Amino acid sequence: MRYMIRGKKIVTVSQLGSLENGAIVIENGKIAAIDSWERLKEGYPDLDVIDCSSYVITPSLVDCHTHLLEFAPTSLYPVTPETHFLAGKTILLHALSSGITALGEQICGHPLCDFSKEDYQKAVRDLPIDVSFATTSISIGFENLAHFTSITQSRRVTHYDLADPVLVQMIALESDYPGENIFISATPANFTDKEVPRAGEIIYTLEELQKIVTIYHRLGKRMGAHVAGEEGIQLALDAGVDVLHHAHGMTDKQMEKSVKQGVKIVATPMGGTHLAPNSPEEILKYVEKDIPVSIATDSYLPPYLGTSWLPFQDQSLQGPDVLMLIAQPVMQLLKKQNYDENKILSLLTDNPAKLLGKDDRFGRLEVGLEANFLVAEGVPGLEITEIDKIKQVFYRGIKVINRD
Ligand SMILES: [Zn+2]
Repeated sequence: MRYMIRGKKIVTVSQLGSLENGAIVIENGKIAAIDSWERLKEGYPDLDVIDCSSYVITPSLVDCHTHLLEFAPTSLYPVTPETHFLAGKTILLHALSSGITALGEQICGHPLCDFSKEDYQKAVRDLPIDVSFATTSISIGFENLAHFTSITQSRRVTHYDLADPVLVQMIALESDYPGENIFISATPANFTDKEVPRAGEIIYTLEELQKIVTIYHRLGKRMGAHVAGEEGIQLALDAGVDVLHHAHGMTDKQMEKSVKQGVKIVATPMGGTHLAPNSPEEILKYVEKDIPVSIATDSYLPPYLGTSWLPFQDQSLQGPDVLMLIAQPVMQLLKKQNYDENKILSLLTDNPAKLLGKDDRFGRLEVGLEANFLVAEGVPGLEITEIDKIKQVFYRGIKVINRD
């Protein structure tokens, strides 16, 4: 199957930058050519053309930190284990309709979900969305700290088990990418402040962390951690963690250390830890220092209230449909600082694709990559935040969402 699609502008997020009045030739789900409409029209005179010349075409979005298949189904729907994945698929459809065609999912272990990584993989196998899984352990800040792992599934583990080398190795072996593989600071998860008084508490010693990082590195894997607060972030940096998720409350000095160590950041400006989330100014600093930063929703999540840059009025759970909305403040700030729209959009496309280790497949619009793209009324996040303004979503060359 071969066709051409034409757009008012194509924001490629590649070396090509933005192409005014551009077009893409798609063949067997991949990008075969991308150039100006004038040139491609001449080069491929007989091809069927989808005319989207009043819309912007961009790479589809990548949300590299989510909890859509494990935590979300039971939070949102009155499901049982028999209907759990039916809810999961509904949630993934919602993500797809929000312009997201690739996800980085966390499997942490959960009392209501006695599922293995294989079960989660099976549930998404034939869906038109790309899902990478990070297997993890998790520490929740209840009065009595609660710990779970992807391996032990619905069964609680002890604090001691978290650093058990055999268990850590089993978790590490199954992990597809550096998600929040361990929780250095206890998480509030989806709970309210009263329910999780110990959120933020540091779970590991430096020595334990170093041993855990070594296990990942020996297996040839990079490791990510859920972390917030100066003390926890320092531990993560000192132990050689590769990716910091959230990193709320990072100091300037710690940013410098991150640059030196080549650490990547997954910013979650909606919340997700016991501290105020990443502000637009903070994320701007990462970009200025050339720290590879991705923006992720960590959804479903009750948004942190009391920031000046987010519009949420209450703590009702928010999903992947707010990715553009929570990214807009920093995207507009970057624009004000004269960053190019391709660089700005890379925070929602190429950078998270790199984090997932899949930037050789998607995240940009260039020859040879998968034809995963959006047809929208403006640049996602920068110019539009409502999902209805995404008119079409294409996954591997096939239209999977249509609002026209
Ligand atoms: Zn998370």
